[in-house]
Amino acid sequence: METQALNQFKALFNRQKRELLYSGKVMNEEFNLKSDDLADELDLTSTDNETAMRMRLRNREALFLKKIDEALERIQAGTFGSCESCDGEISLKRLEARPTATLCVDCKETQEQTERLHIDGHQFKSLGAKLRL
Ligand SMILES: [Zn+2]
Repeated sequence: METQALNQFKALFNRQKRELLYSGKVMNEEFNLKSDDLADELDLTSTDNETAMRMRLRNREALFLKKIDEALERIQAGTFGSCESCDGEISLKRLEARPTATLCVDCKETQEQTERLHIDGHQFKSLGAKLRL
């Protein structure tokens, strides 16, 4: 992959990382506030549900952050853009759509049959909106 393209991905990952860390902090503060304010009004089941969702969100954030870190490591190591399953080249078009991709389209299709969750910033926002209801 050309150095210029690599640098663009590197900048993208660093920006995503900042955004993720920032929004995670804000959302955790909101959750803490909410659970304190509403503790007396919620029955035990609702509180349990909220706790489960908070833990899930933290896991999702941690997973996405890990993917970004690994992508940055691949850029450093010079393996960014290579499929880790078949060693083939991942198309630039695919990387632009999913920059943390580690598999080419063919290998990914095989994997996606078992993988149902996709982690991206948009889903964090919609999950946060749900929690505020
Ligand atoms: Zn492949």
